Amino acid sequence: MTDLQLDFQDTAIAFSSKSDKELKKTARLFSLMNKKWLVDMGSKVGLAAFKYKLPFASTLVEATIFDLFCGGKTLLDCQPNIDKLRDFQVNTILDYGAEGKDTEEDFNLTMNENMRGIDFAFHNPSIPAISTKITGLTHTPLLEKMHAGLTLTTEEEHQKQSLLKRVDVICNKAAERGVAVFIDAEETWIQKPIDDIVNLMMSRYNKNRPIVYNTFQMYRTDRLSFLKESYSHAKSGGYILGAKIVRGAYMDKERARAAEMGYPSPIQPDKLSADADYNAAIRFCIDHHEHIALCNASHNATSNQLMASYIHEKGLSRDNPHFMFCQLYGMSDNLTFNLAKAGFKVAKYMPYGPVRDVIPYLIRRTQENAAVTGDLSREYQMILKEVNRRGI
Ligand SMILES: Cc1cc2nc3c(=O)[nH]c(=O)nc-3n(C[C@H](O)[C@H](O)[C@H](O)COP(=O)(O)OP(=O)(O)OC[C@H]3O[C@@H](n4cnc5c(N)ncnc54)[C@H](O)[C@@H]3O)c2cc1C
Repeated sequence: MTDLQLDFQDTAIAFSSKSDKELKKTARLFSLMNKKWLVDMGSKVGLAAFKYKLPFASTLVEATIFDLFCGGKTLLDCQPNIDKLRDFQVNTILDYGAEGKDTEEDFNLTMNENMRGIDFAFHNPSIPAISTKITGLTHTPLLEKMHAGLTLTTEEEHQKQSLLKRVDVICNKAAERGVAVFIDAEETWIQKPIDDIVNLMMSRYNKNRPIVYNTFQMYRTDRLSFLKESYSHAKSGGYILGAKIVRGAYMDKERARAAEMGYPSPIQPDKLSADADYNAAIRFCIDHHEHIALCNASHNATSNQLMASYIHEKGLSRDNPHFMFCQLYGMSDNLTFNLAKAGFKVAKYMPYGPVRDVIPYLIRRTQENAAVTGDLSREYQMILKEVNRRGI
């Protein structure tokens, strides 16, 4: 069989959904984000504004980067963006951006918003899934205590039962509606209870098809073996393993905490080791795709090419329901649109919510796109290439 080589440099396809005006606006914003000092300063001001609920922050963010990385403030706001992606055979995964919440009332609000997302997805064939975060549904200190195996107080036991109920209500509704639920992976010191809850939900709701997905961070040294273990449990338990594979978002924080507290870092020693486990995980999921539904959530061109090539090499169908590629809204359009054009199932993670609530998420995106070494970011280079190609 011949090799499959996708052209991720094809910017004409990558930015086909953007008009000249939209592309120029995007280029201007990425050029600003490319200035590290500006991003550093903006992040500090943004976080302070978020903390103290300063009104000007929302206005500023809304006028600049909100549209670039978020679908809208509400589900209905997102609809035109969802439709636009669908016109290019790109699906949407709804991601309600609740962060930094800490009351039972907030957690119930997040649960209700997730339920609304599931209903909305049910009526939209191009939305196969919603995404949620366990820290949006309960207190982080509770998760820390559960992770450490400490005895819970009566109140904490009650909070734990409320969490289980919330997650179950979401997954139950998702199963009824045939919509998948992707559950984020978070910091290592709270991940065990997250894994336990997700495994429980998968054993309940993934008997016939993948509804619930866990997330596996391959920058962790122990996750390739955990993926294999999860597969064995799923197989013996008679359910499908939903596996979203990521590299991991909290590397600096993880390393700093390990160094400060004097335990071995859970993170791979270098990027090459993280990449090697990432790619091994993708191959493992494809090799066992009858029992694993895989979502390759990455902006790394090599890992996306690897999955496409491996599906091709094994003679498997590109639109197999157990294979999905996924990138964040507003990023790596060169991967998303070229994969979709080649007939693979690909989706954008689309965050939405009140501007104030998504500020921490937006700060992470701007930091990711800031030039660290003085070079232009991967994203900005692609945008400039297309601006030049169009001669605008
Ligand atoms: C759709 C989607 C969903 C996501 N969901 C989650 C989630 O639930 N939980 C989560 O934690 N993250 C999540 N992420 C973020 C993800 O984990 C990565 O941070 C991000 O995508 C960058 O990795 P990459 O594979 O795209 O590309 P790359 O640019 O190739 O990789 C960068 C990543 O490699 C790793 N890395 C870099 N340097 C080193 C080093 N020296 N040693 C070891 N590792 C290194 C880090 O993880 C870094 O983020 C998600 C990303 C996407 C696209």
